[in-house]
Amino acid sequence: MAVFTLPPKMIGFYKENIEYITAHAVDPDKRRYASKNEAPRHYIDIDHYAKSGENPFDSVPRYWNDAVEKYSEDTLMAYGIVPWHVSKMTYYLTKAFKENDANNILRLSADLGHYIADAHVPLHTTKNYNGQLTNQKGIHGLWESRIPEITADNFDYLVGRAEYIKYPIHRIWDAVEESHSYLDSVFFIEKDITEKMSSDQKYAFEQRGNSMVKQYSQAFALAYDARMGDMVESRMRKAISMIGSLWFTAWVDAGQPNLDNLGKKVDLNKMQEEDKQLEEEIKDQKIKGREHD
Ligand SMILES: [Zn+2]
Repeated sequence: MAVFTLPPKMIGFYKENIEYITAHAVDPDKRRYASKNEAPRHYIDIDHYAKSGENPFDSVPRYWNDAVEKYSEDTLMAYGIVPWHVSKMTYYLTKAFKENDANNILRLSADLGHYIADAHVPLHTTKNYNGQLTNQKGIHGLWESRIPEITADNFDYLVGRAEYIKYPIHRIWDAVEESHSYLDSVFFIEKDITEKMSSDQKYAFEQRGNSMVKQYSQAFALAYDARMGDMVESRMRKAISMIGSLWFTAWVDAGQPNLDNLGKKVDLNKMQEEDKQLEEEIKDQKIKGREHD
């Protein structure tokens, strides 16, 4: 969807490869099982840094080096690094554009899109990421899967044009801060609807492969979505807008290289080979990450 925000000089290449980008937008979640460094790239438990009465967004330095100095790299890795990772990936994408490396442009565009989208989800900004600390377990899936399943067809994904972002790190921090500001509603509304519904109305069992999975019922998801207003949709729209804008920014910072010839250079067979390897790796070494996609 972010492809449609791009200017004429970029859109051809992205449209030609839209299938690749769409299919690979979920790669980072797959990698979580292959690499222990992957998981923290998807979230930041900003409330970990909230001392009494303090706004954690005032405490945590926005720049990586400053944050490392203040808290140590181990701490940052333990509580998530999504804003810094978005900034880093934007840098790598700029490099790929400079090198006219079509494969890397596509791969990094897909990856960057994924992390930006994660940063727009309120539940990716808290240690209570699945409601596990407040007896609201499963809320992550409700937000990220159930609600979009129900309503995605009606979403309005036209978000305007990509814009140049001078300081990606500040923009992504602003997005994380905005995501975090919605958390009170995310949890409160769940609790409020729960109090008004019996538990056999609240949950439904669904067949997944060979097992039955307990999850929020359709009725609950609908009620929840109605109370949330357009929060899910508006977070998605903002994510799409920033994805297009950071792709565009990387391209501008690379000197606006001509992408017209790149489209034909993309070696999808080779990329598919590599993707297969990745899947093998994942199968081989199932590292249990937290269920925090
Ligand atoms: Zn993710």
